[in-house]
Amino acid sequence: MNVYDGWRIAAMLTHRGMVQTQNVSDADIIILNTCAVRAKATDKVFSALGRIRRAKKPSALFGIVGCVAREAGATAFRRIPDLNFVLGPQSYHKLPEIIENPDAKLFNIDLGGLEKFDSLPQMERSPRIAYIPIQEGCNHCCTYCIVPYTRGRELSRPFDACMRDTIHAAKTGAIEICFLGQNVNGYKYTDENGNIYRLSDLIRETAKIPEIMRIRFTSSYPTEMTDDLIDMFRTEPKLLPFLNMPIQSGAPEILKRMNRPYSLELYCDIINKLRIARPDIQISSDFIVGFPGETDSDFEQTMKIAQQIKYINSYSFKYSPRPHTAAAIMPNQIQENIKAQRLAALDNCLNEIQRDFNESCVDKTLECLLEGPDKTGNHLIYRTPFMQQCIVAHRENAPELAKIKITAANKASLRGKIID
Ligand code: SAH
Repeated sequence: MNVYDGWRIAAMLTHRGMVQTQNVSDADIIILNTCAVRAKATDKVFSALGRIRRAKKPSALFGIVGCVAREAGATAFRRIPDLNFVLGPQSYHKLPEIIENPDAKLFNIDLGGLEKFDSLPQMERSPRIAYIPIQEGCNHCCTYCIVPYTRGRELSRPFDACMRDTIHAAKTGAIEICFLGQNVNGYKYTDENGNIYRLSDLIRETAKIPEIMRIRFTSSYPTEMTDDLIDMFRTEPKLLPFLNMPIQSGAPEILKRMNRPYSLELYCDIINKLRIARPDIQISSDFIVGFPGETDSDFEQTMKIAQQIKYINSYSFKYSPRPHTAAAIMPNQIQENIKAQRLAALDNCLNEIQRDFNESCVDKTLECLLEGPDKTGNHLIYRTPFMQQCIVAHRENAPELAKIKITAANKASLRGKIID
């Protein structure tokens, strides 16, 4: 979502005649787009601001947009007094105001809902993978999560607006569409005639666009995985056989205190239905270890479910207490060294599963999407339908979508040969 926000911000400024530079000391305006989900991300923002402050031209404007702006609020100006702007995740479209009035401080952390989407210019060229946000905010209120505070209550964008953005992306270069939302499978829009649109409707419509060859969405909340959506994996071949559906923990007691009120039986039932609908589907998850009160036996249950479901491509984090959240003031916070031990054990287990899956792909032929050259320029990086990285020898005019025979695999990536 932040990558998408960054693109829109860049498009907004290039539309006004500005050009991008990677060099801080050249820039006239420096915008840090920020994530507040864990404390470490927030801390990094303030140390980066200190570095930028020293490296930038004296006349250059600098500031933060996104969730840290909303989290820190006006205290950001106290920490870095010469900061020029602090704009929350739903007010970054107001950024041009600072260019028009550079001597004033610009501060807005309001939750303006969907206003930003309609007040930003479209990008002239879409990246090959186009992110289409279809929703802002989240209503789930998981007790560890700052997102409902930083991005506000859940709002689904109008169906027509989502399709307009999708068609625009397709006509300007997109091959893959990734629908975005904190609770993306809970997308629900009711138009003025009372017609209800869901994520399955967006997928069905998007699959009809000839330029679009691959569709996916992230991130999903388990209990919003309704049958109409599961059915899409059966009926729409363009929907990739890959789904991120975070379980967070394998211990029922922890899930209850996380305010994620699903049972493991229900979660596993959904996965079974998905596998019936699409036998080759692979699932990825997010995990939090060291949530307040997590015992050794709770953690063992997380390890067990990871092995049982055989998640590929998962993300795992040490629990990080966040302001404005219920879990931050729960008793029995877990010591840092225990969190670190549990994270290392879980990561080991997840890496092994991923390596096994990667190895099982050897000798198969997968249709992959071109991402671009690697750093050396000697190779091209492709993405498989399961979002693994696949490296092939560089060549001119390589197809954007290629059938690749997988020749080798390790934990992090695959190697292959394009089949002509
Ligand atoms: N709705 C999004 C949430 C974005 S945050 C989603 O479901 O993916 C991405 C991940 O960060 C979450 O799934 C969770 O695993 C992790 N996370 C969120 N808050 C956290 C916290 N306080 N400490 C550690 N990890 C956290």
